[in-house]
Amino acid sequence: MSATRNLPTELDAVIVGAGFSGLYQLYKLRQLGMRVKVVEAGSDIGGTWYWNRYPGARCDVESMHYSYSFDPELEQEWEWTEKYPSQPEILAYIHHVADRHDLRKDVVLDTKVTSAHYDEDSALWTVRTEDGQEVGARYCIMAVGCLSVPKKPEVPGLERFRGDWYHTCDWPESGVDFTGRRVAVIGTGSSGIQAIPIIAQQASELTVFQRTPNFSLPTFNGPIDREMVADIKSRYRAIREESRQSGFGIAIEPPTRSALEVDPGERHRNYEERWQRGNLTGVLQAYTDLLADEEANETAAEFVRGKIREIVDDPDTAEKLCPKGYAFGTKRPCLDTGYYETFNADHVQLADLRETPLVEITEKGVRTSDREYEVDSLVLATGFDAMTGALLNIDIRGRGGQPLREKWQDGPALYLGLNPAGFPNLFTITGPGSPSVLSNMIVSIEQHVEWITDLVDHMRRGELRTVEATETAEKEWTDHVREVGDMTLYPKTDSWYMGANVPGKPRLLMAYLGGVGPYWQKCQEVAANDYEGFALSA
Ligand code: FAD
Ligand code: NAP
Repeated sequence: MSATRNLPTELDAVIVGAGFSGLYQLYKLRQLGMRVKVVEAGSDIGGTWYWNRYPGARCDVESMHYSYSFDPELEQEWEWTEKYPSQPEILAYIHHVADRHDLRKDVVLDTKVTSAHYDEDSALWTVRTEDGQEVGARYCIMAVGCLSVPKKPEVPGLERFRGDWYHTCDWPESGVDFTGRRVAVIGTGSSGIQAIPIIAQQASELTVFQRTPNFSLPTFNGPIDREMVADIKSRYRAIREESRQSGFGIAIEPPTRSALEVDPGERHRNYEERWQRGNLTGVLQAYTDLLADEEANETAAEFVRGKIREIVDDPDTAEKLCPKGYAFGTKRPCLDTGYYETFNADHVQLADLRETPLVEITEKGVRTSDREYEVDSLVLATGFDAMTGALLNIDIRGRGGQPLREKWQDGPALYLGLNPAGFPNLFTITGPGSPSVLSNMIVSIEQHVEWITDLVDHMRRGELRTVEATETAEKEWTDHVREVGDMTLYPKTDSWYMGANVPGKPRLLMAYLGGVGPYWQKCQEVAANDYEGFALSA
């Protein structure tokens, strides 16, 4: 059965968002026999992989690890074609999962949730949508995504631009042909870095507007290695479990030595061998202290800069592309296919916004402090209002009508990244204060969904009506998240992890860096100790 646009007036649970999180949460709550619907603003399921259809969009966790683990037959049957899956392939996978488990019949598409208000007398949430629908439910689960609210550049003039413009995360389904066009790309994060080489193949001229250079490593992507697939499939259960116990949600051999205790020659050879692996964790996980010690980090940063200087022919351009002034890994590093090589083409130029800042978008193109660049098409790869953006876009009100926007005015506070005190029966999947975006997110999503489902089951069996974090537990956890973050180099860098990409947003590390495994153990201990830190009531 296909999705509808109509919500019933009463449910046991409303889930907002039909990406990996919302769909799995639907599957799990249906298994409990609950009446549940997913409400999705987009015109189809898939979340991130529905919206981000820009050229080159691809995952940078390897296919065999960026997939659900809850269906052992599915993981044996599904065949990935490339080392790193492309957006269309991931979307096809999500569609396959939805069909296999008949999920679509409980997904309401093209429907944006605008508010969720808690009523203390009935202990129910009332969820309202932009098209005027209203549904009451015991549980409200926010699966709204950490990277689902686009951010535009903070310069005036976009409405004046006479050419066509696109944001990477709201790309036309029919695609865009840039053949023969003069194109500007603003932004050199993961999205820009993936799109730029492909746009360059079509455009007659391409100007890349770079504010902060990023560290990017090659994917060495290609057809998937069938022997590797057979090996992983023969051990999938154990590998999944290892991933759940790991630091970043991918099972790897943890480093044992400091970067500063090995001699430079050996260190270089180690980095080189890891560079050749073509993944994110290789170089970054070469030594224990790369994310905690500036001097150690600089050895890896300089190694990557050396690669950029080798690849890019023009020394001036190479130097502009070299990230400096922040530690490697503290802004989300990128994986690319031919990014630095693109700047060797004659029709590609780099505009360094550190030297000549962006001033405005004009009718004809982009103006920086020194000149106007006339273009036909403009691509905004300017990122997201991450982690809190989608939650705060919804008018969420808890006990006493308290708005979440008010509670979080100095930054997000939740217990375990799952529930904010004062908002009973409301959960966030991969919310702030959990490993979330600092992990292979599918692993973190599955952990949260399963934990929430177990709690809901516990509530139903015990005929309990409400569950909410205590203020004390929330504060202790939020302090812990900050303390762990402060032991690393992350807070020193202006990144979206810190909310620093959105003017006026509170500046604090929003994800938990204690590691996926230790975090999961903590969640399980909390559950085993009668949901310690939560107040449960009948
Ligand atoms: P999403 O997929 O973001 O889904 C949330 C859904 O909620 C969206 O469809 C949105 O429309 C909907 N929604 C939000 N607000 C409302 C509302 N008010 N009403 C109704 N619907 C609403 N993670 C990795 O681990 N590895 C990767 O390599 C990786 N690559 C990425 C590449 C890109 C381009 C991006 C943007 C993100 C990437 N991520 C990656 C992170 C990715 O977001 C997660 O891996 C995962 O897909 C998140 O799933 P989700 O269901 O939690 O959220
Ligand atoms: P991003 O990392 O936030 O990058 C946005 C880029 O736009 C940055 O270079 C930023 O510069 C620039 N920018 C923003 N506002 C600007 C302004 N006003 N003027 C000039 N430049 C401006 O966003 P993203 O590339 O979309 O990626 C976001 C996250 O999504 C990634 O970190 C990753 O987690 C995920 N993602 C993953 C993949 C993948 O390979 N799997 C691909 C895409 C996205 P500053 O750095 O100076 O702010």
